Amino acid sequence: MSETLFQLEVRPNIPEKLRGLEELANDLLYSWDRDVRGLFYRLDDELWETCNHNLKVFLRRVAQNKLDEAIKDHLFMEEYSRVMSSFRTYHEKGVSPAITAHLDPESDQVAYFCAEFGLHESFPIYSGGLGILAGDHCKAASDLGVPFVGVGLLYRQGYFTQFIDGNGSQQAQYTPTNFDELVVQPACDSDGNAFYVQVEIEARPVKLKVWMARAGHILLYLLDSDLEENSSEDRSITFQLYGGDSTTRIQQEIVLGIGGVRALRALGIEPTIWHINEGHAAFQIPERCREYIDQGMDFNSALELVAAGTVFTTHTPVSAGHDIFEADQMTRYFKDYIKSLNIDPETFLALGQSPNNNTSFNMTALALRGSRFHNGVSRIHGGVASSMEGYVWPQIPPDENPISYVTNGVHVPTFLAREWVNLFDMRFREWHSELNNPTFWDCIDTIPNHRYWSLRQELKAQMLEDVNKRTRRRFQRAGFSEAQLKRLTSYTGEPEQNVLVIGFARRFATYKRAALLFSDLQRLARLLNNPKRPVMIVFAGKAHPRDKPGQELIRTIHEYSLRPEFIGKIIMLEGYDMALARKLVTGVDVWLNTPEYPLEASGTSGQKAAINGVINLSVLDGWWGEGFDGENGWAIHPHASNADDTLRDQEESADLLDILENEVIPLYYDYGSQGYSSSWVKLSKASMKSCLPRFNAQRMVVDYVKNFYAPARYQYSRLSAKDCAPARKLSDWKTKVREQWGDVSIRRVDDIRQQIHDGDSLPIVVHAGLNGLVPEDVVVECVVGGRNDGGEFVSSEQHQFRHTGLQDDEHVFELYLKPNNSGLNHYKLRIYPWHELLSHPFEMGYMLWI
Ligand SMILES: *Cc1c(COP(=O)(O)O)cnc(C)c1O
Repeated sequence: MSETLFQLEVRPNIPEKLRGLEELANDLLYSWDRDVRGLFYRLDDELWETCNHNLKVFLRRVAQNKLDEAIKDHLFMEEYSRVMSSFRTYHEKGVSPAITAHLDPESDQVAYFCAEFGLHESFPIYSGGLGILAGDHCKAASDLGVPFVGVGLLYRQGYFTQFIDGNGSQQAQYTPTNFDELVVQPACDSDGNAFYVQVEIEARPVKLKVWMARAGHILLYLLDSDLEENSSEDRSITFQLYGGDSTTRIQQEIVLGIGGVRALRALGIEPTIWHINEGHAAFQIPERCREYIDQGMDFNSALELVAAGTVFTTHTPVSAGHDIFEADQMTRYFKDYIKSLNIDPETFLALGQSPNNNTSFNMTALALRGSRFHNGVSRIHGGVASSMEGYVWPQIPPDENPISYVTNGVHVPTFLAREWVNLFDMRFREWHSELNNPTFWDCIDTIPNHRYWSLRQELKAQMLEDVNKRTRRRFQRAGFSEAQLKRLTSYTGEPEQNVLVIGFARRFATYKRAALLFSDLQRLARLLNNPKRPVMIVFAGKAHPRDKPGQELIRTIHEYSLRPEFIGKIIMLEGYDMALARKLVTGVDVWLNTPEYPLEASGTSGQKAAINGVINLSVLDGWWGEGFDGENGWAIHPHASNADDTLRDQEESADLLDILENEVIPLYYDYGSQGYSSSWVKLSKASMKSCLPRFNAQRMVVDYVKNFYAPARYQYSRLSAKDCAPARKLSDWKTKVREQWGDVSIRRVDDIRQQIHDGDSLPIVVHAGLNGLVPEDVVVECVVGGRNDGGEFVSSEQHQFRHTGLQDDEHVFELYLKPNNSGLNHYKLRIYPWHELLSHPFEMGYMLWI
């Protein structure tokens, strides 16, 4: 028998003079306000670490005498007043003109749905890139004053904590969180009462509690099924992020999509713009349709209305990454629900149809069909998504279909090191309001080189100290001897040594090719071990517990890291989270990314690195395809992969080692008489000043507001005017087009001249059989352009035909074509259905060419 270990938390009485600390601890603004965190750190730096930077837990455990001493400490109290007053100023700040130019803060409301939100390590409801992007979106929305709420799930166990044992095996630890210890509180309905919402899961009612988290100006509503009233099965729906199997997944998505809409309604929130961030939340579409259908509308008109106000962002560049449910699973979960939509099951299942998956239901397809505004997350990824998801608009060439892109950006106050913030505050006072202004950031050049270099070295020293602690902790636990620990930390333990540090931290998915560096071990060892020019590489990242190849990669890196030629030079860190990410992206010298082109949707860690003056060395994929300008870092050009993946990997790996050997290492160690490399500083400054204004989250949110939210709002208000008559009209028109389009035909009847003289125009005449459609239902168009290097046609102008009459049941359309350019032109002729209420001219997916 072992005795019980009881626990007793003795909570301090917070002195009246420090009451504001409670307010600070209950607002996730602390996740991007370093001064708030600094205040807590000053009170007790040890407790700060042991409670994992959780302010709420900190305030419950901090010793009474620390607080009592603090109120007698003038310097502390001054800092406290300063932090409180800037906290108040932040909350009183109005909406940015960049937003009011497009949205009305009084009447507009954005509801942003996502399966994960990564705001801070103390709030573990995120796994990686998607969540942190969502967190950054919320933070920038708050900074700009966008009328905005987030909707997600409150996971009892969140994502796993990663440990790596002495053999390099990843151990996933799930720790249940006590919601008391998170920055959440029960949400109240519009009458101020706590409330529940309900969803049906296989005909069982499941009750959901709604929690609320505050993050500056915005609120986050999070759903939780872990309630006594629910069966133990249902209680576990919201246990783990990306845990369980496809049953858990569909249940979570019902809770998020359907429960999320019901929660907003109960709260009295009336969104005018709905943003679905990745397919997980797409069940909000049928739920919002059901609301209109309950009021007597037909399904198709309801879908028009819902889609008009909806923005969908896709993040996954491979179709295998999309959520797909089996048709029988869908029928089981949605049998009764489909009846409430007044449609037959086939119509419902068709919303999720995608090629090669005829019997299953694809959440990305649902999201695309239920939204009119769609985007990928970088220029390259926008193109990939247009091709991959082009099946939704089968007759439209992918480069013209409605999927466009907004390149991701990172939240600067979250990821910019405190030392840079202090320097900017001192030298460039107004920098906060100039984030998106590229010319402003030329000011980086005015920072003296030696100052710049020493600041970077200081950040590196802090990072190495942290790496040292983490490495010792990890290997002590694994039972390594002190002599081994010494070898493992030979470069991190002595911060006065100068060493070039390369960072590689990301999800260990195989396409990210973490092991690309290791194709030529001898050469790598030679590069790292030159005593005059030492180089260290730090790895970190989690693999999903079901991703065996990803875990194998972690083991591989671990094994390399223990080889005699690499020990202390290659480090594999465990427990990648936002805290470690902040250390690495601010402290390393070079940020390495080696994805297989074109599988990196965007990548954001390289952006975090760049704004801190870290130099990117990356495959030209994702955001770096736009970010690299030839003078702000290094690029590995993707080799064609159509022949042989192994060969491509070898070639790209050789390129990588060449760049390291011939460019990176010599540049870093090109010390002049002043004791540092001024050419390195030049490149680092170029990285910072070119990336900061372009790849920050405010730029991203303003792009969304301008190009997606405002048009969606406009489109929704058009269709919902006059009791939604326009939505019905558009829906009826689409029904008619769907019935008739199959037999529409078009042919050219003029004599097809091939030359004209400058100043003349070319008469073109086509005859179209409209099969019952009228000329106003279609556009006949001439697309003029040229050929690109690859010989493909690229359009540059469009000219519309005029309807001029009827001849033998065929409609006559004529155009007098005058191309903008003389010389050799190419052109194509096409017809497509068109209605003035459409959101995008090609949204029906129909188009015929001559
Ligand atoms: C930024 C970040 C990511 C995403 O970075 P990628 O470049 O997309 O791999 C993942 N995890 C953490 C903890 C991060 O901070």
